[in-house]
Amino acid sequence: MAIQEKLSLMIPGPTPVPEKVLQALGKHPIGHRSKDFQDLVKITTENLKWLHQTNNDVLTITGSGTAAMEAGIINSLSKGDKVICGENGKFGQRWVKVAKEFGLEVIEIGAEWGKPLNPEDFKKILEEDKQKEIKAVILTHSETSTGVINDLQMISTHIRNHKKALSIIDCVTSIGACSVPVDEWKLDIVASGSQKGYMIPPGLSFISMSEKAWQASEDSNLPKFYLNLKSYRKSLLSNSNPYTPAVNLVFALDQSLKMMREEGLENIFARHNRHKLAVSKAAKTLNLNLFADEEHLSPAVTAIATDDIDAEDFRKKIKNKFDILLAGGQDHLKGEIFRVGHLGYVNDRDIISVISAISNTLLDQKKITAQQAGEALAVASKYLK
Ligand SMILES: *Cc1c(COP(=O)(O)O)cnc(C)c1O
Repeated sequence: MAIQEKLSLMIPGPTPVPEKVLQALGKHPIGHRSKDFQDLVKITTENLKWLHQTNNDVLTITGSGTAAMEAGIINSLSKGDKVICGENGKFGQRWVKVAKEFGLEVIEIGAEWGKPLNPEDFKKILEEDKQKEIKAVILTHSETSTGVINDLQMISTHIRNHKKALSIIDCVTSIGACSVPVDEWKLDIVASGSQKGYMIPPGLSFISMSEKAWQASEDSNLPKFYLNLKSYRKSLLSNSNPYTPAVNLVFALDQSLKMMREEGLENIFARHNRHKLAVSKAAKTLNLNLFADEEHLSPAVTAIATDDIDAEDFRKKIKNKFDILLAGGQDHLKGEIFRVGHLGYVNDRDIISVISAISNTLLDQKKITAQQAGEALAVASKYLK
């Protein structure tokens, strides 16, 4: 049996939470209209802008990542609007569903799960739209279900060249894992969630809104109340919230953003990159197949195809024996792949442990030799500090 207190979350969210952040959660709540809380809103908002590399407004919403994405859609668009949705995994699929639910006309640009979206497909459709009928391009930067990172920089160039369309981007597993320079790439709406790169438990989400996005919000007629971002923007002028926020999660956010500032953006991104390389190269040494294209691996999660091994059984063995929780495949990928999360509060020890646990389990099943197990660690070590 797994030991709960020792269970290491190597899933792409919720991710491990640092002790300091846990302690911040365990305090008495304070009044959300108090000066102390306003000070916290001020500093966390400044630090969120730092993390997003932007001067745009970054709003904090009580709700999971999907709340921020839904907010992005319903605050900028109107019923019947034509939008492009990128779909190369479970999360891309979710945005197609949300867009359709709100009566938008969806043009889907798909790619096989495990492959990246092709920026040329976006370019073509956007260039052909001479009447400028496409109001937004909605896509997922890091597709957590397959471990693929999409070429957001290139796609956003094509969106900008269209002039009219807004970008609405799910950066839930890319913010805090790799660089998402919101201003440099001119991203209009960027959504993320606390239980991923932020190192906080689930419950908060964040949305960055450009001036162009705010302008679009003036014409948006989709129904909204709790998620009407204009209320959040207005309250933020006095460092406040329209409704009672998850006060203790904001204590946690304050701590985690301070830790991130101490480490520095470049160091955070380099750490995620090293861990991605260590896990993916080790997997190959163990004769495991990467599910995603090697040139497009997400910095947050590595998906591994297991061929003749039942991925669910494999995950269970690792959980029970090593107290490491890995993620399974979603939908048709259940049993076919397992996913190693290396997002947020993860260090080299976690990476060495997960590789050893995978090797050991393969060794038990006589799928690899002891020498290969050793080689996997040697390969991974090259990328560790
Ligand atoms: C986790 C995740 C979300 C958010 O899901 P919630 O359960 O609403 O927090 C959205 N997109 C991606 C790519 C994710 O990994």
